[in-house]
Amino acid sequence: MATIILIIILIVAFTNLIPNGQMQPASLLTFLFVLMRVMPIRRQIDGARVRLNSFQGSLGNVKELLRTDDKPYFKDGKVQFSALKRGIEFISVDFGYDPNEPVLHNITLTIKQGQTTALVGGSGAGKSTLADLIPRFYEPTQGKILIDGVDLQNFKINSLRRKVAIVSQDTFIFNTSIRNNIAYALEDIDEAAIYEAARLANALEFILEMPEGFDTTVGDRGIRLSGGQRQRIAIARALLRNPDILILDEATSALDSVSERLIQESLEKLTVGRTVIAIAHRLSTIVRADKVVVLEQGRIVEQGGYQELLQQRGKLWSYHQMQHELGQTG
Ligand code: ADP
Repeated sequence: MATIILIIILIVAFTNLIPNGQMQPASLLTFLFVLMRVMPIRRQIDGARVRLNSFQGSLGNVKELLRTDDKPYFKDGKVQFSALKRGIEFISVDFGYDPNEPVLHNITLTIKQGQTTALVGGSGAGKSTLADLIPRFYEPTQGKILIDGVDLQNFKINSLRRKVAIVSQDTFIFNTSIRNNIAYALEDIDEAAIYEAARLANALEFILEMPEGFDTTVGDRGIRLSGGQRQRIAIARALLRNPDILILDEATSALDSVSERLIQESLEKLTVGRTVIAIAHRLSTIVRADKVVVLEQGRIVEQGGYQELLQQRGKLWSYHQMQHELGQTG
């Protein structure tokens, strides 16, 4: 294409310009010289245009992400959250990801400081959604959530989230070193504290077996971690942050028995003295809980102590029977 244009320009220049005496040979040479310099630049511009076109799809996605008119924005509060003293109260809370389609209905619940509250129920019952309201990932559509009597909306979101840790198998692993993955979002953490957190989380052994120990890059572009290993990284992160409130989403996919035991052991260390909201898939967690809350289709259908609920022979009792029949898997 560029060659054809060049040939046309040369023919036009030689046949028209010189015989009319409108352009001297010196000017023509300058003209050609400039032309030669311009051609590569034109090619670069063409290339950039092609590249820009190929980015259109991704640019559209970024624009969609940055759109503000279709996302809920929370007003930050003014109160600094320092520590949980009495507990968390849900008062007639309704919530829907789409306000017209409620996922949680009329949730009234007290979570006492220092206790373990287990959320039980089938898949899609609303357990994770209920837990996600505590770090204020979402706002109730109706009702209130109080922390030590203060509406959750009055707290500075960052100060609150600093005191809440979530441990789950779905934990996000960043494409960086194990060290950074454990200490992420924390500043000035010394090496000894990271090492100790990994030790208490029963993660030290597998970390030290990796090619570069704590410097090994993990994540999509590094070494992939197993579900059990991810969960232990999450436990190490939580230990390092020393949270007041711990949201524990138990493993749903099968772990080998060694991983399972190591995780149980480290969770016991992590949960001591903290307020724990456990999304429970196994009876073992429920048995140890101070309070069990049974959810069905976004509603609380039973709540109370484990033994107390079993004696009522209601929903928990039927889950209990079912899990026993399945050999305590779940
Ligand atoms: P559970 O933890 O008990 O399995 P969830 O809280 O994850 O239940 O889900 C409750 C309901 O909310 C389900 O119907 C689920 O499909 C829906 N849901 C969960 N997360 C989202 C989301 N991010 N956007 C829209 N709907 C969601």
